[in-house]
Amino acid sequence: MEMNKKIQEKFAALFGEGGATYAASGRINLIGEHTDYNGGYVFPGAIDKGILARIKPNGTDKVRLFSVDYNERSEFGLAEQDKPSQAWACYVFGVCRETLKRGGKVAGFDAVFAGDVPLGAGLSSSAALESVFAFAINEMNGNGLDKFELAKIGQSTEHNYCGVKCGIMDQFASCFGKAGSLIRLNCKTLEYKYFPFNPKGYRLLLIDSCVKHELASSAYNKRRASCENAAAAIRKNHPEVEFLSDAKRVWLDEVRDNIPEEDFLRAEYVIGEVQRVLDVCDALERDDYETVGEMMYQTHFGLSRLYEVSCDELDFLNKLARRMDVTGSRVMGGGFGGCTINLVKNELYDDFVKAAREQFTARFGHEPKFYDVVVSDGARKLPANA
Ligand code: ADP
Ligand code: MG
Repeated sequence: MEMNKKIQEKFAALFGEGGATYAASGRINLIGEHTDYNGGYVFPGAIDKGILARIKPNGTDKVRLFSVDYNERSEFGLAEQDKPSQAWACYVFGVCRETLKRGGKVAGFDAVFAGDVPLGAGLSSSAALESVFAFAINEMNGNGLDKFELAKIGQSTEHNYCGVKCGIMDQFASCFGKAGSLIRLNCKTLEYKYFPFNPKGYRLLLIDSCVKHELASSAYNKRRASCENAAAAIRKNHPEVEFLSDAKRVWLDEVRDNIPEEDFLRAEYVIGEVQRVLDVCDALERDDYETVGEMMYQTHFGLSRLYEVSCDELDFLNKLARRMDVTGSRVMGGGFGGCTINLVKNELYDDFVKAAREQFTARFGHEPKFYDVVVSDGARKLPANA
């Protein structure tokens, strides 16, 4: 393992002998988009790209870090006013602070880390970084926090030290991920369940459009408002509807004339998406990846035409996938850019990558990026001989 060797050597050079190696991953979300703030399901898994960190307590009250990828050092104390200047170090500082806030102990440590999650591509490199340190600090100090607490430490780090108001999915997936499994998380109750994901004969391919359209955050707020408006209208007839995802499709039809057409379409997407997650879970239990793929296309249609968070680049990639008989394809993440996630038969993989590269580049003037991912284990300590 190349990355492992690199951090071991750098650790030995900077901090000497000893230490242990920890890993945590980025994530994908197979289906369940824009459902989290509607109290619905998401369906993520950890991937085979992540952060590796070699860590050792140093007997001081300071943290000394080296980022291999930035080729930079950072050193900080553990009090609130000790926040480091480098953005990347703030993730680790935040994890230390949030652990302390939860009553955990954080002894000073030395660490060298490196990663292979592409930054800002929608695979959550930041969650991988938070999770690897949350997990390692918990273990080294015998804090005994459960995995949910570790995920929340990562989420609070984003909120309080990195200025990102994210949900819990990314850190949840990075902490709870298991090879060969996706995890259905109910964003209202936080109940979760593992489902088998062993797509023999298929590969998962992310295609990064490498665009991010400006609309994203204002459109996001508008979508949320539409969903709340639709939920409020339904609630008048069905008081049990706390979130939009609690509503049945026929309940939405009852209020069709009482809400703007736009809100209706948004709600139609969300209620459909909650059902699609359940359908995908059923299909996986039957090993039926063709149905999984069809649901992905339906999600893309909904995101593009009902929820209206797609864009030309993503629709182009989705259409190309359909035309080439790729099993499943949809925009992954909030939309207006970022990646599509594709379920591709092995024998089609090379042709699809080639066609997507050539045709996308011809149409948009820049190359997309391709990441092939395998669903893998989440945060963990590596065996001493790894
Ligand atoms: P993403 O969608 O990948 O999570 P973010 O902007 O949330 O994108 O997080 C990316 C940030 O996380 C980087 O700018 C950096 O500060 C930190 N980070 C992620 N991976 C690494 C790494 N391998 N080494 C150092 N910092 C990293
Ligand atoms: Mg992030």
